[in-house]
Amino acid sequence: MSTSSNIKFLPINRISCDDPMWESIRAGKKFNVIGIVVSVGEIQEISTKNNRLLPKRNITLGDASGKTVVWTAWRYEAQKKYDNNPVIVLKGALFNVEYHNLTTNFRTIIQINPDLPEAHKLREWYDTVGKNSVGKNKIESCITLLEAESHNPEVGGIPYHFSQLGVITLLNSTEAIYKACPKCKKKLEHQQNPDKCKNCNKEICNDYIYGLKVDADISDSTGNRNVVAFGESAEAMLGISIQEIAQLFENNKFMYAQVFEKAVYKTLIFDLSTKNEIYKDQTSLRTMVQCCYPFDYSDANAILLKKIKEITGV
Ligand SMILES: [Zn+2]
Repeated sequence: MSTSSNIKFLPINRISCDDPMWESIRAGKKFNVIGIVVSVGEIQEISTKNNRLLPKRNITLGDASGKTVVWTAWRYEAQKKYDNNPVIVLKGALFNVEYHNLTTNFRTIIQINPDLPEAHKLREWYDTVGKNSVGKNKIESCITLLEAESHNPEVGGIPYHFSQLGVITLLNSTEAIYKACPKCKKKLEHQQNPDKCKNCNKEICNDYIYGLKVDADISDSTGNRNVVAFGESAEAMLGISIQEIAQLFENNKFMYAQVFEKAVYKTLIFDLSTKNEIYKDQTSLRTMVQCCYPFDYSDANAILLKKIKEITGV
């Protein structure tokens, strides 16, 4: 038996974060996904412009990467039964940048439990290992900002990594865009003309690239923390590519500010890394966003209910 079909599937961990593929996905490129149904949301009805009710349902798909992504199914795809964690293949899926989920249209080929080597492999993985780990690790492993405080490292100590479910409560748009070295991607020095990369010790004329640094406050019910995000993490927080935001920065300051305004109050799961450094003779706690992910409210609710049951014993 063949071990793979000729279909190129994009692993789920590469869909939403930290991958060069992200650019083309964001630009509306279609791709193929294979995933196992990890959880199924309630059927909702959305009214269309001409007052028709359209069934909609969020279905969380996971794969052996351990990551999950939400697929929003519409019409009869939303009304189908998804019992016993079926394997779903979406040929020609799209990523909705605004909602951070997979979408499908009438051209997408949707298959449930197809007879493909990849589907059998995924089923076997899920039945043996995956059912205890996929998708659960992320929200369940999140701690609160208050809990994280007790793990703040000593000055010069090993950085502390944790995941947290938080809301962006403040975003600073000044100095978010900077000119960077095309080779090492570090910020250019502006003292000289032309600009200079201190790291590469090289003058950079017009072949600079843009860098993005997002300075934000994230909050949960227990506290607040200032964080810094670069590159793909910053793009994911703002929901826009560096190229796009740099263009707005150069040509349309109003739209540029709007991108930041729109991203405030976005809820995401953040992978954070905190270290304690001496900066200008003072110790300062610096928290970096390593990655951020969209999350499914139904998963968060399920975990919250589980915790309430554990605490109350009901
Ligand atoms: Zn450089």
